[in-house]
Amino acid sequence: MIEDNYRQRGLRNNLVKKLRLKGILDESVLKAIGKVPRHVFFDNALLNHAYEDKAFPIGEGQTISQPYTVAFQTEKLEIKQGDKVLEIGTGSGYQAAILVELGAKVYTIEFQKKLYEHTKEFLPQIGYKPLFFFGDGSKGIPAKAPYDKIIVTAGAPVIPDALIEQLTENGILIIPVGDREKQKMVRIIKKNGKLLKEEFDSFAFVPLLGEQGWK
Ligand code: SAM
Repeated sequence: MIEDNYRQRGLRNNLVKKLRLKGILDESVLKAIGKVPRHVFFDNALLNHAYEDKAFPIGEGQTISQPYTVAFQTEKLEIKQGDKVLEIGTGSGYQAAILVELGAKVYTIEFQKKLYEHTKEFLPQIGYKPLFFFGDGSKGIPAKAPYDKIIVTAGAPVIPDALIEQLTENGILIIPVGDREKQKMVRIIKKNGKLLKEEFDSFAFVPLLGEQGWK
């Protein structure tokens, strides 16, 4: 049973206010953050931190991304109802829940077996049902391609070619690219067979592993 009480809703509204002040403008993204109960992704010991704008450990040496980062990446994807979205790095499932909340059809892939198994069981229990895959997402999921949008939630050394190939025309890829400690957020839009590239601020993600990630 998920408990989502007055206090938790209040903390979530404050988080939304904070994200707005930090520059998140897309009302649909803010509404989704205001709706998904982030505290249910946390262990009891960390519960009080659920609505801080911080990343937190989720086991297996991995993290639930900072709300600002989730909001930033999601905003840049310009999600429309019915978009087919590939997420690389399922982790806790929080980002996937936000995407489902926005009306996307979500395919999410995780490289760590335990996390994959945990989240595949947990997320549907709280009402979010993306399609779960286990494996190396640095190669995308070619069998289900193409995707309108692709989001990478781990830091990549380079932009994997496979992900560009799996984007539709007018498709958008958002991916942090850099070294193991720090990455620039990069957005690629595929238009008329050309790639439009934009670079944003720096972020700090755990490394993207796998064939087209860190070895
Ligand atoms: N999106 C997650 C969330 O909402 O909680 C946060 C993801 S966490 C920052 C990064 C995740 O990427 C980790 O769970 C890690 O195991 C996963 N990962 C790393 N390399 C991967 C790969 N090649 N394919 C799929 N997942 C990968």
